[in-house]
Amino acid sequence: MAHLIKLEKYFKANDLNVHLDKTKVIVFSKSGRIPKGLNFACDNKNIEVIKQYTYLGVPFYSSTSFALTAKNFKEKGIRALTAIWKIFLKGKVEEWTSHQALFNSIVTATALYASHIWGLKHMALIEQVQSRFIKRLLQLRTNTASYLLRLETGNVTLEFQIIKKAIKFIQKIENESNDRYAKICWLELLKQKRNPKTGNWAFLLADLLQKRLGNIEMNTVIQQWKTYEPVYKQALYLEDIASINASLKNNFLRNNYEPFTAQKYLRSNLTLPTIRILAQLRINNGYFYYQENSFDFHEDINCTICNSTETQDRIHILKKCSVHRNARLELIKEIPELEDWNLEQLCHGMNLMSREKFIAIYHFITYILRYRHFLANLENNIN
Ligand SMILES: [Zn+2]
Repeated sequence: MAHLIKLEKYFKANDLNVHLDKTKVIVFSKSGRIPKGLNFACDNKNIEVIKQYTYLGVPFYSSTSFALTAKNFKEKGIRALTAIWKIFLKGKVEEWTSHQALFNSIVTATALYASHIWGLKHMALIEQVQSRFIKRLLQLRTNTASYLLRLETGNVTLEFQIIKKAIKFIQKIENESNDRYAKICWLELLKQKRNPKTGNWAFLLADLLQKRLGNIEMNTVIQQWKTYEPVYKQALYLEDIASINASLKNNFLRNNYEPFTAQKYLRSNLTLPTIRILAQLRINNGYFYYQENSFDFHEDINCTICNSTETQDRIHILKKCSVHRNARLELIKEIPELEDWNLEQLCHGMNLMSREKFIAIYHFITYILRYRHFLANLENNIN
């Protein structure tokens, strides 16, 4: 039995009445195991030893790993998104910027809470919150690449927010006197030898900074963060650009993306159903969801309705399929360029289109989807 005598004295000296029933002890160790027979007492009362404790909203585990903490916050973020989804769909929130602002405030308050402490090693897990949000909002397939979602919507990874919080945290600590616990810990971490197994917070931070900014002293980056902040953000954007350039499936979109700029159709004050169809046209690999039905336009299947030998890909249905000729003439006559465009040129051309043209494309695609749905039903009834 270990008596916490110093603590007892401290409480008495400061006239503090401690609720010992609510007080717990957590022993941090690499293995997370609690040695047998380990007991703590204060004021002759036994204090329970536990393996997990939620302190100021952050779950801590005796294993010192934040993996479960990160998982916990990711789930929290996703639950929060689900809870506000009704506002998005019923509450007339149609503006992309409003969706984005709502997402940012919710994710900051839930998934990113204290993330600069527990998140440095678990960025990938947290990024899923943003990817899920964009996929759900635009009704995109679950396997849509995250870098593509970010480029399309003008976002960078949530890593940027986490790093900003970490830098601000350290700037604050550095200004404190050397007897403050946070400062003592920080200076102690910096003194340690590098060992990837220890998960030293200072080294995790240094590694991330080096990965994005190159060989610059961490101290310099912290002191001159105003200068390095945009460089860091740019590095995240360039990483996504590198991914799209390397992608076989998506690199037809490679010249579409200005830094930190959502695609024009997202910024054109269109309704959610409209931006969904346009997003699907561009980045959903030939799949559409419309009025609770799904449609896939494979590049390896011949068109099933026009008897041509052409594959029924997006370009075939948009500009070639003879069955939709009349609708095409009527609905997208304002886009004469479409005649000469392939999918790459169409996506690129969408950077310059007017709101009216976006609406025209939406009407034409949804007309095709309704038509094809009607035909499929007809066939089912005959068989
Ligand atoms: Zn056809």
